[in-house]
Amino acid sequence: MDAADPELLARLLAVVEQVARSGAFTHGPFVEAFERDFAAYCEASTAVGVSSGTDALMLALRALGVGRGDEVIVPANSFIATAEAVSHVNATPRFVDVDPQTHLMTAEHVREALGPRTRAVIPVHLFGATVDLDPILAVARDAGLWVIEDACQAHGARYRGRRVGTLGHAGCFSFYPAKNLGAWGDAGAVVTDDEDLADRIRLLRSHGERPRYHHRVVGGTARLDGLQAAVLGAKLGDLDARTQDRRLVAGTLRGRLAALGVDLPASPAPPGDHVFHLLVVRCDDRDALRTHLHDRGIATGVHYPTPIHLTPAYASAGLPEGSLPVAEGLARRICTLPLFPGMTAQEIDRVADAVDEHVSAQARVAV
Ligand SMILES: *Cc1c(COP(=O)(O)O)cnc(C)c1O
Repeated sequence: MDAADPELLARLLAVVEQVARSGAFTHGPFVEAFERDFAAYCEASTAVGVSSGTDALMLALRALGVGRGDEVIVPANSFIATAEAVSHVNATPRFVDVDPQTHLMTAEHVREALGPRTRAVIPVHLFGATVDLDPILAVARDAGLWVIEDACQAHGARYRGRRVGTLGHAGCFSFYPAKNLGAWGDAGAVVTDDEDLADRIRLLRSHGERPRYHHRVVGGTARLDGLQAAVLGAKLGDLDARTQDRRLVAGTLRGRLAALGVDLPASPAPPGDHVFHLLVVRCDDRDALRTHLHDRGIATGVHYPTPIHLTPAYASAGLPEGSLPVAEGLARRICTLPLFPGMTAQEIDRVADAVDEHVSAQARVAV
């Protein structure tokens, strides 16, 4: 939490005051400055600030002309927003399974899901781990698909030396407070090297308006606001250092866990990368592990307990249990452990020791 760091809190409150005194709450210099800075950070030509990661995905799809009658390939193992964006443009998400080691979509999954109505694919860099994009980009090129990267959990990760979000036609980011770069509310961005696409998204995010009260297309209210832009701009400079911290913490904690025989997802091989938005482990008695950690004051999570195709929201997909067995099997075994920049050696030890207790107790039961 930003409030836990007094120096950061003071810096952020100062920029909030600046916005308040300037009155630039929508559009204006704070939004423009953050868009420039975030594009530069991503090494992309343009970033368009929007109201959330979900809206970033939805606006990218709309601006690319994806709509009714179209299918978009999405992994079943993601936050539901990846699919919601597809539904909101009246297209149909086509759910695919994921790799059992990385939990990510592969080119093979995309190839198998291709059909006459497929228009786009959304690879999700889940947990901060990069999808192996080159083979997917090749399949997409051959099939004439748009590639929209869901980089909502992978700010700053690199693939083949390039920042994620810049390898497909558009890259979508969320700045939800808990993400690796978090606002003080909801915010998002689309990055792209396609200036026409960026311009269509700029129109759509604000009532299709240009100039004022001249409405060229049916848009809506999906802007990044000045306060969020100012907060994000003030935090962006620290992002790479915080990511490096995440990597170090994850390296130490994963090393301890591996030595205990804990089953860990594979990190992407080169040319991939991992920015450890989340540290996930796999465990047959996941719920017992969570209870054990909870009893010792250690908070855990499950990302995500239900693959998207099995949620009531997507009953319409008509995919019964057993349809996408890898994603379904992972959902039963995954557990997210605490990981944050600045996590101390003692905090890391406390988590590893608590997991050790559980694993040792289980081993005794088995004997
Ligand atoms: C957070 C997230 C989103 C949605 O972002 P919001 O800003 O919450 O709308 C989309 N996809 C993934 C993978 C996410 O983690």
